[in-house]
Amino acid sequence: MQFRSTKSHESPVSFKEAVLRCLPPDGGLYVPASVMDMRQYFLYMDTETSYPELVATVAPGLLQGELNPFSASMVAESAFDFEPELRQLDETFSLLTLYNGPTGVFKDFGIAFLAAVMEELLKNNGPAMIVSATRGDTGVSIANAFHKRQNITSVILYPSGSAIQGLDPASYVPNGGNIIPIQIEGSFDECQKLVKEIIRDRPYADRYGITSVNAINVGRLLPQSFYFLHAFVKLKKYLNGDLLFSVPSGNFGNLIAGLYAWKFGMPVNGFIAAMNANNAIGDFIRGRQFIPRPVKSTNSPALDVAQPSNYERLASFYDEAPAVMRNMVFPAAVDNDDTVKALERFWKRYGIILDPHGAVAYAAAERVLSGFDPGSHVVILATGHPAKKAVTVTEATGQTVEIPRRLALLREKADPLAVIKPNLDALETAIVSCF
Ligand SMILES: *Cc1c(COP(=O)(O)O)cnc(C)c1O
Repeated sequence: MQFRSTKSHESPVSFKEAVLRCLPPDGGLYVPASVMDMRQYFLYMDTETSYPELVATVAPGLLQGELNPFSASMVAESAFDFEPELRQLDETFSLLTLYNGPTGVFKDFGIAFLAAVMEELLKNNGPAMIVSATRGDTGVSIANAFHKRQNITSVILYPSGSAIQGLDPASYVPNGGNIIPIQIEGSFDECQKLVKEIIRDRPYADRYGITSVNAINVGRLLPQSFYFLHAFVKLKKYLNGDLLFSVPSGNFGNLIAGLYAWKFGMPVNGFIAAMNANNAIGDFIRGRQFIPRPVKSTNSPALDVAQPSNYERLASFYDEAPAVMRNMVFPAAVDNDDTVKALERFWKRYGIILDPHGAVAYAAAERVLSGFDPGSHVVILATGHPAKKAVTVTEATGQTVEIPRRLALLREKADPLAVIKPNLDALETAIVSCF
């Protein structure tokens, strides 16, 4: 499969190139250049198929010519020592738990695959350096996924006021590891700006093989489609009506990945775009103009996004087939009160504690389902671990949430290798001095 820019159908690139470039030069975003029918790869899988097996089968099908089945199974095994978990709750609902990774959010899945596949794709390329900007757990997830990857160094920039947590100093470059955490005396935006600048400094970027792996990299998005397929494979023999997925949506990466799974041949009848009060994009989905509104803080903060970074990818689906898309994506907005009530209702009904983002998806699903035939089934995506939003969760359910050891470790602050002013010279010097 090749990838093209949302702004052009010309000059598609390979997966490797799309991953390494991150953004097409015309300012668009990379999307698959063609539709692939993957049914022959997953329709024969069954409930016994493990997640690494699914990934090792589907990935080489999608990335023919770039990733052979043997390499794909090594990638899948080395990426995933955690798995998504599908639980059928009753006739109407299933829960797809995506918070079993090292940082307790679904983003671990995309990052883990990207790190493993990059190591494989870069095998004969010489050393590479990943520079990323982060203000929270993503940095830890990246450090975790890239630690010990051959020939790859990972530079993580984070703003003052935030801390890098749960990192083991033994993983740092001067100690024989491959991670370089650097604190920037500035804002998150300044960290992002530095990433762009260092990539544009061609002599330096070429010398170290510098690329970025931010959330809009297709190398993170594509593997997120695998857990939609996983859920379908686990459920298919029990389904006898419509199948929907309810996706708590902020930057719309997860929802786009679900749409890719559909384009790859997964039989599905719709996706619920579950949002909180930040729901301006719902207008666009309903066929009106998208006019961004100022962001509002809510109790499901990962969804507090005014202008989704994947907007262009979503828009390109609608450009191609607006009428089809109107029957495929169903927006629903859930306010703070209804989020808390949904948390409580879910706990009472199923004895399972969601986090507020999962609760938004549950409440949205109940609402959208009333327009579907009885017998329809919704898979709710539990995107975050409830322990990460313990206060809200405990208020809603009266339950205290046990914090898994891996998440407790994330609370321990680690020291950066350098604290620098937000300018390119300082950054480049700091990186060189680590070796
Ligand atoms: C990032 C995140 C989301 C939003 O996902 P998008 O792909 O940005 O729409 C939802 N829930 C949690 C817990 C998250 O961390």
